[in-house]
Amino acid sequence: MPSDDALIIDDDDRYSRMRLIAWWDQEKLHSAKVLVVGIGALGNEVAKNLALMGVGHVFGIDLDCVEDSNLTRSVLFREADNGQPKVHAAAKALYDMNRDTTFYPTHGNVMTDVGLGLIRDMDVIIGCLDNREARLWVNRMSWKVGTPWVDGGIQEINGVAKVFVPPDGACYECAMTENDYRLMSLRYSCPLLKREDILEGKVPTAPTIASIIAGLQTQEALKLIHGMKVEDGGAMVFNGIANNFYKTNYQHNPDCLSHHTYGEALKTGLSASDPLEKLFGFAEEKLQSKNVSLNLDRDLVQTIDCVQCNSSEPVYLPTYSVNANRIKCEICGTDRKPNLTHLINSDSGLLSKRIDEVGIPAYDVVCFQTDDKEVFLELDGDRDSLYEKRYRP
Ligand SMILES: [Zn+2]
Ligand SMILES: [Zn+2]
Repeated sequence: MPSDDALIIDDDDRYSRMRLIAWWDQEKLHSAKVLVVGIGALGNEVAKNLALMGVGHVFGIDLDCVEDSNLTRSVLFREADNGQPKVHAAAKALYDMNRDTTFYPTHGNVMTDVGLGLIRDMDVIIGCLDNREARLWVNRMSWKVGTPWVDGGIQEINGVAKVFVPPDGACYECAMTENDYRLMSLRYSCPLLKREDILEGKVPTAPTIASIIAGLQTQEALKLIHGMKVEDGGAMVFNGIANNFYKTNYQHNPDCLSHHTYGEALKTGLSASDPLEKLFGFAEEKLQSKNVSLNLDRDLVQTIDCVQCNSSEPVYLPTYSVNANRIKCEICGTDRKPNLTHLINSDSGLLSKRIDEVGIPAYDVVCFQTDDKEVFLELDGDRDSLYEKRYRP
């Protein structure tokens, strides 16, 4: 007869050992939603941990396909996956691992293909990224809609994990230095270079450090899901050579550009494939003005101008969908200059375009302004189809 009731274990329940942890709430995990951004070495370990723990809804986004060199650091990939999108290879492996976990794969870029509605729906975002630009993007999105995020970074056998909780704590950008901004602007000296051409992410790493840092990231996410106290606005730094582990805290910067927090979003019933005109109609009614501005998260190329020829070609496309080879002037051969904007006004002549044609992703939350008011509108018409995109074999 067991001496302690707590040791009676239901062997038919795969979560029975974890339920023995005093604060563990398997039902909470089962209803939790987590977005994993990047399915490389860290993302593989994080997604694996989430599936092992029975987290109910795991969203994954990644742009890349599996290569042989990924196989040494990616528990979810097999040789046969070579050439397949990483999110699809991961989806198969996670399905085999635990069917209690529903995986929603997006083969795309977090900076262009994820709407704020989805970010807001998440309990936590786990960043498994290899560049500042994408981290800064995730940081700003998470602040806008109030979702905590856990960043991770690895190099060789060293690594760092950081927890950020909006709206009051220090954020990723609070900790950015002049040098970080300088390195970023160098890479963006031409705004029309495709991001995938710029981002390299060929940092050498061992699978062991990926396990360690992803383990920390997932544990912090686990605490956030349980509503436990976390030390946010700082970093946990692990030096694998010296086996030295320490924590630092960042200073909250009141001038930080990431701290724009959206108010409550109004449902519009619209989808990103609807005409911009309908969205403007909604905003004009709510703001009671015929002259409103849509404040875009992603710059739009209005025109490409040639100073030599004094000519201007109308474009009106998001920067990421304008090919860099359009820069050269066909007449004089010099490099022209893209003229960017992040505002669309009621009288812009663009309202017959579709919402997604100006770079707004599905299920996004957009911000409309007048001189003294702002309103936040949600493309909730996309929600159901987005959640339908779960992986099924
Ligand atoms: Zn900040
Ligand atoms: Zn020219």
